[in-house]
Amino acid sequence: MRVLLIGSGGREHALAWKMAASPLLTKLYAVPGNPGIGREAELVRLDIADHTAVARFCRENEIDLVVVGPEGPLVAGIADDLRAEGIRVFGPSKAAARLEGSKGFTKDLCAKYGVPTAAYGRFGDLASARAYVEKTGAPIVIKADGLAAGKGVTVAMTLDEARTALDACFDGSFGQAGAEVVVEEFLVGEEASFFCLCDGTTALPFGTAQDHKRLSDGDTGPNTGGMGAYSPAPVMTPEMIDRTMREIVEPTMRGMAETGAPFSGVLFAGLMITDKGPKLIEYNTRFGDPECQVLMMRLKDDLLVLLNAAADGQLAHTSVRWRDDAALTVVMAARGYPGAPEKGSVIRGVEAAAGEGVEIFHAGTAINGGALVANGGRVLNITATGRTVGEAQKKAYAALDRIDWPQGFCRRDIGWLALAREQSK
Ligand code: AMP
Repeated sequence: MRVLLIGSGGREHALAWKMAASPLLTKLYAVPGNPGIGREAELVRLDIADHTAVARFCRENEIDLVVVGPEGPLVAGIADDLRAEGIRVFGPSKAAARLEGSKGFTKDLCAKYGVPTAAYGRFGDLASARAYVEKTGAPIVIKADGLAAGKGVTVAMTLDEARTALDACFDGSFGQAGAEVVVEEFLVGEEASFFCLCDGTTALPFGTAQDHKRLSDGDTGPNTGGMGAYSPAPVMTPEMIDRTMREIVEPTMRGMAETGAPFSGVLFAGLMITDKGPKLIEYNTRFGDPECQVLMMRLKDDLLVLLNAAADGQLAHTSVRWRDDAALTVVMAARGYPGAPEKGSVIRGVEAAAGEGVEIFHAGTAINGGALVANGGRVLNITATGRTVGEAQKKAYAALDRIDWPQGFCRRDIGWLALAREQSK
């Protein structure tokens, strides 16, 4: 198979690494990719936003499958435009990607199909949003409707914080994404990420993970794209997975099909496990980054076989197997992240730091004058497997400490919640 992978982060490096292990693969291209992905794929210069150019590349290079990593191109309709040209794609249509692209759309679907989620209101103007918040009280959650790169959500513990967040949404801080606002009930419980591969009709459970969104140890500091993750999530017991499939994923799949937007691709449910069971916080319509990295380390089966089955509507006849091992990934970020990360610092010792059960996935890296340099906020994902989360954590930090990059930093406590559980057993 000749495959084109779209994206340039650690998520896409992990996908490239796993696809490269498939006996089905004859040629992998990536656009734009990064130096790590470049070890597995031929990097292509193309404007991803120019869907006609991407389609032309696929025709000229006889691409059998396009795998889309990030949400941006999906929400922009790349899957529709390629399929219209007869090109096979793993990823949802623009209409189905509204599950991620519009929080209001998802909340309305949940209400219609009885999917458990936080109580909410949708507002297009400040005065009515303000009135709802004043009436409901704090704690309360304020969300810009559209894609805001993970920054459009405020969990307000006081009314004052809620008022400030509403002002920020309506004064244009999030651009168009904030023109509409969802105000939600504050949910209490443990968060978990749950993934499914979907083919429009069938959803196949595809692993669990937990991530660390906050910048600093102890889950403090500002929100980021994610500073680390591990899989599996201990809170997602087989019973909890069954309930999540029955109460959340299956009604969503039915709802999307009935709405005329059957969902195919990765359905990533951000869950709050409350004392009443799983509740949906949000959907994403692609793999999480860095959750994908830990899932790929644990996946026993051939990823390309599974992506093909999803693209062809064959998931009802497919199963998936996982290694018993846990996996954990630590993000190394460039000084200044999540604000303005410093670019250009030299990173040494990456190749030597990897080893048995340890992979180092590249995110924001570049080659400059033959040297590997930082070229973004989140730069490397040090990923390891072990019999327990604790063992995987030890291996990941030991590898990380072999990397010579004074301008990089990381959290030192990735996996702490799972570790506390393991130690209390
Ligand atoms: P989201 O971008 O919707 O995933 O929200 C980012 C983070 O905000 C989530 O990972 C949760 O930690 C928190 N959050 C979002 N919605 C709620 C809610 N209704 N109750 C409590 N926490 C929430």
